[in-house]
Amino acid sequence: MSIQKYDVIVIGLGAMGSAAVYQLARRGYRVLGLDANIRRHKNGSSHGTSRIIREAYLEGSDYVPIVQRAYELWHELEAETGQELLKITGCLTIGEPHSTFVTGALASCKRFNLAHEYLTASEVNRRFPGYTLTDNLEAVLEPNGGILFPEQCVMAHLDLAARHGGEIHHEEQVLKWTTQGDNSVVVETTQGSYAADRLVITTGPWANEWLAELGVPLKVQRIVNAHFEPDNQERFKPEVFPVYLLEAPEGEYYGFPLLPGEGIKLGRHDIGDVCTPQTINREVDPSEIQMLKQVVDRYMRGGAESFKWSLTCMYTNTPDRNFVIDRHPGNSNVVYGCGFSGHGFKFASAIGEILAEMAVDGKTRHSIEFLAASRFSPNSPVAIARN
Ligand SMILES: Cc1cc2nc3c(=O)[nH]c(=O)nc-3n(C[C@H](O)[C@H](O)[C@H](O)COP(=O)(O)OP(=O)(O)OC[C@H]3O[C@@H](n4cnc5c(N)ncnc54)[C@H](O)[C@@H]3O)c2cc1C
Repeated sequence: MSIQKYDVIVIGLGAMGSAAVYQLARRGYRVLGLDANIRRHKNGSSHGTSRIIREAYLEGSDYVPIVQRAYELWHELEAETGQELLKITGCLTIGEPHSTFVTGALASCKRFNLAHEYLTASEVNRRFPGYTLTDNLEAVLEPNGGILFPEQCVMAHLDLAARHGGEIHHEEQVLKWTTQGDNSVVVETTQGSYAADRLVITTGPWANEWLAELGVPLKVQRIVNAHFEPDNQERFKPEVFPVYLLEAPEGEYYGFPLLPGEGIKLGRHDIGDVCTPQTINREVDPSEIQMLKQVVDRYMRGGAESFKWSLTCMYTNTPDRNFVIDRHPGNSNVVYGCGFSGHGFKFASAIGEILAEMAVDGKTRHSIEFLAASRFSPNSPVAIARN
């Protein structure tokens, strides 16, 4: 029996896979996107109402050109769909003067001459009265920071992919992939089999099930976010309350202004139980909410007058918290992106472009050498330095 053949199959249609399917379909390739879950699910890493986007990249300035391209592509997606997917609010990266957050953000600003201001705690509190920062803290304010609406972004990529002729199947789990003699790839799912010249794997927190043999060390981490209603809505509106990253003695946090019906949202970035998509505890303990409320009470007084709701999500972390985007060593027709380490969403539009270019052109215009999996091989200088 003959099976249907595509130019490219994409496994996993979260932030990254939806963008890859869109990029391939708009280039005119015959593409099939497969996802095990329903269309708008909350089982992976791309659900919820908000993700931060920012340019002053404290995790490493090599990311700056990629996020700048991502901004362009998000704006193009907005134009093509007529939807607001990105709201600019400014972003405050807050920490003690020599903290990793503040020095990292400043290093990116300096290398790429990014627009920014350096503010003391009292300057932040005066300009943005929702903040009540303590005197030990300072902040880098970047005017281009803002909020992406993640579920709308994923839907926009999928809808446009379909409009450009892409085929999208949800609730169809991929069971395995194999290569044939002519180097094409056969993908077996719960519904059938398909063949393609190229394969893209973007399975988020499920990546270990697919890429374990590559030796990319991924650890999935449970993350809790909480929404609170402030006492005074005016001080927490997006126009006067930039999104923030906060490195404080209590830990690393990030958060958002008041969005209609959502209250304000925050989460802790630096800790979370190790889990898998099968074992994650979806129940949130009152002590986890209390920990987040205490941070609001100290640094954004009045922001957490009442608790609204909480949610759990997963980071898929690499040891150095940099992404892995590479080609499968055993099959050059297979490319993958994984280990987005809790900071990947903002890049998704550009990562879709990178994966599409790698899959069909064999190379990408972006400088992504620092994201190669070879850094984890036992003989790489990075791995040796780590040992
Ligand atoms: C709480 C939280 C806050 C975050 N905040 C930010 C932020 O502010 N800014 C930022 O830039 N990033 C942020 N991130 C990170 C960002 O959201 C993730 O890096 C990104 O969403 C990862 O997308 P993904 O496509 O890799 O994974 P996912 O979105 O999880 O997609 C993987 C998909 O693969 C599918 N799949 C898995 N196995 C199979 C199979 N066998 N067959 C078919 N389909 C399969 C799944 O169903 C899923 O849809 C945050 C993450 C979390 C959890």
